Amino acid sequence: MDAFAYMEKYGFEQLCLFHDKGTGLKAITAIHNTVLGPALGGSRFWNYSSTDEAVEDALRLARGMTYKSALAGLALGGGKTVIIGDYATLRKDPIKREAFWRAFGRYLEGMNGRYITAEDVGTSTQDMVYIHMETDYVVGLPGRSGDPSPYTARGVFNSIRACFKHVHGSDDLAGKVIAVQGIGNVGYYLCKYLHECNATLIVTDVDSERVERAVAEFGAKAVSPGDIYAAQCDLYAPCALGATVNDETIPQFKCKIICGGANNVLKDAQIHGNALQSKGIIYAPDYLANSGGVINVSYERAEGGYSEEASLRDIEYIYTRMLDILTIANASGRLTYEVADEMAEQRIEAIRAVKGIYTRK
Ligand code: NAD
Repeated sequence: MDAFAYMEKYGFEQLCLFHDKGTGLKAITAIHNTVLGPALGGSRFWNYSSTDEAVEDALRLARGMTYKSALAGLALGGGKTVIIGDYATLRKDPIKREAFWRAFGRYLEGMNGRYITAEDVGTSTQDMVYIHMETDYVVGLPGRSGDPSPYTARGVFNSIRACFKHVHGSDDLAGKVIAVQGIGNVGYYLCKYLHECNATLIVTDVDSERVERAVAEFGAKAVSPGDIYAAQCDLYAPCALGATVNDETIPQFKCKIICGGANNVLKDAQIHGNALQSKGIIYAPDYLANSGGVINVSYERAEGGYSEEASLRDIEYIYTRMLDILTIANASGRLTYEVADEMAEQRIEAIRAVKGIYTRK
């Protein structure tokens, strides 16, 4: 890929490649936008097949974080790190592992706060602890905000209630049939919250133990992974992978609403967003629905320290924001994700403008 062409097209600020020969660290940090505040986004460890593939992923994910934090009302910009390598091998050697993450921590310290990292796919809380030995520009540490998944799930739950309010005039979930794909960290908590409201659950996962747990604890009905799209339900909640709304699945959907925790649910935002709209299916923009985790982790950096109460108050507000977006999209005939993007961009531009006012900071 032509990284500069991509950066120019989407307005990126910075792309950094970090290499440490001694530890084998190969990290790529992309900073999309820091108008609202320092860029925050997790560090993803993945066995990328090429540097180009890793750069593209870092850029795409960093931009997503800008929109997520902007719409969530946070004083944060968007960034992301991807780390190239085979973590299974590194994880087995505690000394090499510590050195690896501390090397990365020292590079982050050198960025002087423009980017703050956190846990993501393939990384763990312990890795963040190693990073923290070298820098304060890391969140998601033990004893602070903790696992973001229950908070992400809470935001998805609030979004689901907003969708029902929009479609049916009531957010009462009793008796509503909800099909949850992926009963992992987010999916499990989501099922728990939905079950507490007497929703009827249909679940699937490639891990049969997780399915059995949901059946036992929440009285969920299990279906095989391939059958979740055609399930007879009111709402499909993707909580496993991205791109599950695509040419193959759209003809199968019987639901009227799609709202879940996964990122990039629409394989192609415009094509599949339009296809859902033509089918009369309401799509809840994913980066708003799943913003509870970043909201929660952001409170680690609040003055006075982490407050779960304040975080949950913000996560409740996702309901109102989601309802606004659905209402505006409905009234204007536009796609829901376009309305969400525009709101995020408007906030960034408004704050960019006030940054022209001189202060000493
Ligand atoms: P997880 O790995 O704990 O759970 C994912 C689950 O999906 C696993 O149980 C896995 O077995 C299952 N799965 C994988 N492929 C499947 C398939 N084809 N069909 C059915 N099930 C399948 O991950 P998580 O932390 O719960 O995150 C879920 C999604 O939410 C991811 O897309 C993630 O990027 C997104 N997300 C998570 C958070 C968070 O706080 N954890 C925040 C924002 C977004």
